[in-house]
Amino acid sequence: MSDKLPSRIHYTKPSITERETAYAADAAANGWGERCYDYIYRFESLFREHLGSRYAIATSSGTGALHMGMAGLGIGPGDEVVLGDINWIASAAPVVHLGATPVLVDVLPDSWCLDPAAVEAAITPRTKAILAVHLYGNLCDMNALTNIAQRHGLYLIEDAAEAVGSSWYGRRAGSMGIFGAFSFHGTKTITTGEGGIFVTDDESLYERVLTLSNHGRARDEKRQFWAERVGFKYKMSNLQAAVGCAQIERIDDLVAAKRRVFEQYHEILRALPLSMNPEPAGTCNGYWMPTIVIDDGVPFNREALLAAFKADNIDGRVFFWPLSTLPSFDARPENIVSHSLSRRALNLPSYHDLSKEDIARVARVVAGHVKGATA
Ligand SMILES: *Cc1c(COP(=O)(O)O)cnc(C)c1O
Repeated sequence: MSDKLPSRIHYTKPSITERETAYAADAAANGWGERCYDYIYRFESLFREHLGSRYAIATSSGTGALHMGMAGLGIGPGDEVVLGDINWIASAAPVVHLGATPVLVDVLPDSWCLDPAAVEAAITPRTKAILAVHLYGNLCDMNALTNIAQRHGLYLIEDAAEAVGSSWYGRRAGSMGIFGAFSFHGTKTITTGEGGIFVTDDESLYERVLTLSNHGRARDEKRQFWAERVGFKYKMSNLQAAVGCAQIERIDDLVAAKRRVFEQYHEILRALPLSMNPEPAGTCNGYWMPTIVIDDGVPFNREALLAAFKADNIDGRVFFWPLSTLPSFDARPENIVSHSLSRRALNLPSYHDLSKEDIARVARVVAGHVKGATA
């Protein structure tokens, strides 16, 4: 018997075809001079069309899109922004950079996204915005959050970095708030290597963010290098946008591939004492990252399952930590769902062309381990 490890199963990798490499080669050869923005404008227009949003600004990262959008809303010192405790730090970092305070509240046990009742309870006279992060493709309860935002006069912002392909009663994630932000980091459903986009239907916010995105230079300013305020430099390059154009032309296939991977896992794992990303009636989940949450009360050792993955040359990925457990934030022991979820959950490998056999291989390790733990 060979002691060679079975082939490595990465947790994620982009789907790159001849279309991406051809567009990138064209941008590298020809995308200069008068043509230096061609792929950027085309990418923004394709993304707007996909999302059904009026305005879009391509950025160098999802974090940059969030940072500029929040700056455009005037969020700053003394303001509070309410978001879920379970989150990637990128959602909270722009709030901190602007001198505002992230208020971390608990999430719902089924969607792993903002608990509307906890949001409402956290509102103070300083609250300026609610940041709805659609975690792992799952959707926040947008009806409840829109209602709370309207009643309290707050901005509702969508961080849809993980929700390409997700929709809520026919409306795409990222198109429902005052603005939406997406990421095209190499791990995301569509990628430009690094990159992001800011989207909105609000014309005046768009104009403010456009000026901010150009180092504070208004687009109708006649004086060269005249900045009316200190802005940002979070632009996407034409080279990255070329890759993005190819990705968005394939977006339906890329989302379908993510959904196929999820469904194959779900089919094999459904009998185990665990739950996976939900897809409530009226919604569609883009399933960025298929995730298992072992049922409460079932003995489960996350580190042991990760070790079993490693022994089989499979990449596992821990669920996000509650941000309130990181050194930069205040402890929030009352967020019991967030604390409990984090210990019981793992993300499974999910790249677009992951084979049925490899999905079965991952699922076998999960099944052996979860059953073993209950025995
Ligand atoms: C990836 C991600 C971001 C940040 O995007 P970058 O492009 O890496 O800056 C923000 N929010 C969420 C929820 C993400 O998953």
